[in-house]
Amino acid sequence: MKDKKPRKAPLPHRRSVLAKMSTALLITSLKPALASTVPPGARSLDLHNIHTGERLSVDYWANGTYVPDALAAINKILRDFRTGDVQPIETNLLDALVRLHAKLETSKPFEIISGYRSPATNAALHAKSEESGVAVKSLHMRGMAVDIRVPGRPLILLRNAALSERAGGVGYYPQSDFVHVDVGRIRRW
Ligand SMILES: [Zn+2]
Repeated sequence: MKDKKPRKAPLPHRRSVLAKMSTALLITSLKPALASTVPPGARSLDLHNIHTGERLSVDYWANGTYVPDALAAINKILRDFRTGDVQPIETNLLDALVRLHAKLETSKPFEIISGYRSPATNAALHAKSEESGVAVKSLHMRGMAVDIRVPGRPLILLRNAALSERAGGVGYYPQSDFVHVDVGRIRRW
């Protein structure tokens, strides 16, 4: 019993030091995170698939969690319209699109030129035109990329906003009038 007192005594001090340390860690780790997170509250996307004419406006995040039905609807509108294949689109790509949309200060939807691509579609596109920038191992095949534009916003503005996000890759295709955005490695072309 005697021994326990001196051992116990430093604990409150150690705790407060640890508390201070963890608070400091929290603050330093929050700062960069806050800069790249989406605004609090619901996360919404407004999408217009130019190939199918489909339009979707949906809250895919609400009350602190993803909304499965909304994600399913997003996966569907971003499907491979050539084959009908539906695959999950990565939610961090959706979050990147929300941030991008906020930066563009527009109420217009993203126009979708390409979302998910099945391996068959990607191979066909790649074979058709190497100039179009269709990579053999495209991130479109992993639900990690979209090709987009926004009505009323210059393509260069969209490109620059996407670059400033530093969410992944950004490809600029002025001839085809779209910007490729993905959540792979940070790179540009
Ligand atoms: Zn693309």
